[in-house]
Amino acid sequence: MILPIWKNERITREETGMVKAKGSCLCGQLRIAVDGDPLVMAHCCCVDCQKASGGGHMSIARFREQDVVITGEYATYGVIAGSGNTNYRHFCPTCGGRGFGTNSGRPGQINVSVGIFEDSSWFAPKAAIFTRDHRHWDDLDGELPQFEEYPPA
Ligand SMILES: [Zn+2]
Ligand SMILES: [Zn+2]
Repeated sequence: MILPIWKNERITREETGMVKAKGSCLCGQLRIAVDGDPLVMAHCCCVDCQKASGGGHMSIARFREQDVVITGEYATYGVIAGSGNTNYRHFCPTCGGRGFGTNSGRPGQINVSVGIFEDSSWFAPKAAIFTRDHRHWDDLDGELPQFEEYPPA
């Protein structure tokens, strides 16, 4: 099911000076800064992430909402996932660059697309998820734990 474009003003805050990492979309108007340690670091191989990223997977780092500062405009596209929750993908309306994702089943948490960061050397994925959709040409670290869908809770 496709939901209309929806702008989430609730999670937009003024930029602060304290950052672990910062980055922007391709054109630079949508900027994201994060602080604190990520809750999750993973590659998601699901078909939706493939379509949204144009690659074999999307690399995400999940942060607490209070550790993320978002400035600039973004558009949102929501899809109801198999879980019944709505997965929202937020992207720059000018350049189309993906910025971050939220999920109705995980309030207060934000998945930031790692590719936006100027320096992502701190990123250390702990798992590949939704490998049921993985493409053979997308090389993943063989040592990385792989899960057909989500890891067991
Ligand atoms: Zn942009
Ligand atoms: Zn995915």
